[in-house]
Amino acid sequence: MSRIIAITNQKGGVGKTTSAVNLAAGLALLERRVLLIDLDPQGNATMGCGVDKHALGRSVYHLLLGHAELADVKVSTEHGFDVLPANRELGGAEVELIELGRRELRLREALVPARADYDFILIDCPPALNLLTVNGLAAADGVIIPMQCEYYALEGLTDLVNTLRKVRLALNPRIEIDGLLRTLYDPRSTLAQQVVAQLAQHFGDKVFNTVIPRNIRLAEAPSYGRPIFAYDKSSRGALAYQELAAELLQRFGK
Ligand code: ATP
Ligand code: MG
Repeated sequence: MSRIIAITNQKGGVGKTTSAVNLAAGLALLERRVLLIDLDPQGNATMGCGVDKHALGRSVYHLLLGHAELADVKVSTEHGFDVLPANRELGGAEVELIELGRRELRLREALVPARADYDFILIDCPPALNLLTVNGLAAADGVIIPMQCEYYALEGLTDLVNTLRKVRLALNPRIEIDGLLRTLYDPRSTLAQQVVAQLAQHFGDKVFNTVIPRNIRLAEAPSYGRPIFAYDKSSRGALAYQELAAELLQRFGK
């Protein structure tokens, strides 16, 4: 049975997509079967693994609205994992889903046939606590929360933890925090060190040991449609995401 992990933080630009794509690729390098789901109308995860979001026949939009089966949406990437791609059409699903029944559970139900085929299903959520994100959280066994260690990060975390509590009560009792991931990390910043200390105090061993450094190669790779391992496999960014993939396997013994 797969573990379904939503990579989420309502704050924008904290490294959700970078982490989703590179963790998918890192787990694939460790020979795990991985499905990456792009749940963001920006389509950055789609482009980041080399799939053209402008040329999609079927996308996550069609899956959520029940207009396509998972097998018709799924694309095999060159990087050893599959992706359910998205583009701006998915933005329309927000409104269209409101009229449908069980609107928070569309993704969860669509994933049932795929659970046996993958070890990990990773969901790249949009930077909002909207119905798309709620679909991601309702489908997930756990969440990974990427965060930049800056002053407002902890405030945003409180909102996210409250949302998780509501999701647990109303939709998905099994959801848990799989880990907080420090991203875009600059060890020279004293503020970052203070935030790290507070994180450890509040979340203990939920904080991944692996830290993702700020690394220009990670920012460049998506413009070539490649995960970091296919762009610069000896970069600090590549080493960090490989370490994260290994840490995740250790946590779940898969
Ligand atoms: P959004 O909320 O818009 O979906 P996001 O949380 O998915 O954003 P990313 O798109 O992964 O964040 O990252 C934001 C920007 O920072 C991108 O330009 C990305 O290339 C860059 N970036 C992410 N992680 C790193 C890193 N560790 N080092 C350098 N640049 C990074
Ligand atoms: Mg993103």
